[in-house]
Amino acid sequence: MSSAISKRCLEAFQTDDLYTIIGITAEEKDDLTDAKLKKAYHRKSMEWHPDRHADKHPEERVVATRKFQVVADAYRILGDPKMKAIYDAEGLVDDDNFVGSNDEVVNGQEEVPLYYIIEADGYELRQRISGTTAILVFDFKDPSKCYHFHHHGKGVYYCTKCQREKHNCNASVGEKSNGEQYIKMKNDHVCEPIDYYDDETVTITNFEEYKSENGQELFIFDGDDRTNFYQYYYLKTKNCYICSRCQNNGGKMTQAIINPKTGELEVETFHQCEPQPYIPKIREPNFLMSKTKRGNPQIVVFADKSKKNCYKFRWHKRSGFLCVKCSITGRILKQSKGKKFFQLYKQHKCDPVPYKSS
Ligand SMILES: [Zn+2]
Ligand SMILES: [Zn+2]
Ligand SMILES: [Zn+2]
Repeated sequence: MSSAISKRCLEAFQTDDLYTIIGITAEEKDDLTDAKLKKAYHRKSMEWHPDRHADKHPEERVVATRKFQVVADAYRILGDPKMKAIYDAEGLVDDDNFVGSNDEVVNGQEEVPLYYIIEADGYELRQRISGTTAILVFDFKDPSKCYHFHHHGKGVYYCTKCQREKHNCNASVGEKSNGEQYIKMKNDHVCEPIDYYDDETVTITNFEEYKSENGQELFIFDGDDRTNFYQYYYLKTKNCYICSRCQNNGGKMTQAIINPKTGELEVETFHQCEPQPYIPKIREPNFLMSKTKRGNPQIVVFADKSKKNCYKFRWHKRSGFLCVKCSITGRILKQSKGKKFFQLYKQHKCDPVPYKSS
């Protein structure tokens, strides 16, 4: 037996007997069920799981990781009826039939790219209203916690929270020859797991719709106290709302749809962005819209009821309206009830100027 997989087995466990490696005794071998194999694999992969050796010396961590990967390889062979048959008959699986997890392992003591196989009971596939799939992968230490993966494209899923920290921890769905699916995960998380939640889509009532100069908008509040919110814009072609920051973060969409039958808002729960502080107080009802001599739109926002002083805003294509003195941005919002106001996102750093009507 001289294949790469057997070499790795010998290096890691000083044996290339896959049953020994995965912890199946000679007696158990004869009437080995899927469940028994899975259990043995689970026990062994826990034993060598990198998280359990995270505080060890780097060398020991590399050894543990190698063992962990070899255990996963052994399970991939023994858990696949075709490969198991070859292995039982010939005692080896050659490299053409098996692509192991070690293919990308860096030698030495550098960070070892990890490769996990997660069995069906370790994850959950979720359908989102946008038609995409999300994967929840349970935390192996605490099954009440999980990691959320969103579909990034071409069957590859990214851990959403890791992506927020610009770390690529990804997963893809594989299929065994018996049709059973599994998740193949690459790289470890830099993020903390989240609490498991029931639904990928929730119905909410805590939202506001606005018409702004940029089109239809939606504010969804994170919690009842209205301190944080997500800002959505209306996407005509899909007839839904898209979270603006999610789209800016990863190009993927977190959607919200108003159910035409019930009028309720259905929202995809897990964002690729963090909610932003909501500043409800800076809404100026006293403003005027006019045009400059050149014909560009401008806004005068009165600083007091007497309309003696004001702030002036000029139109900027990309930013909306900008304060001519301190460059903070603002926009006109029209509540669905019809009330219009000028919304600011920050306090002025400048002082108002006397208002002169022209
Ligand atoms: Zn993560
Ligand atoms: Zn978002
Ligand atoms: Zn200003």
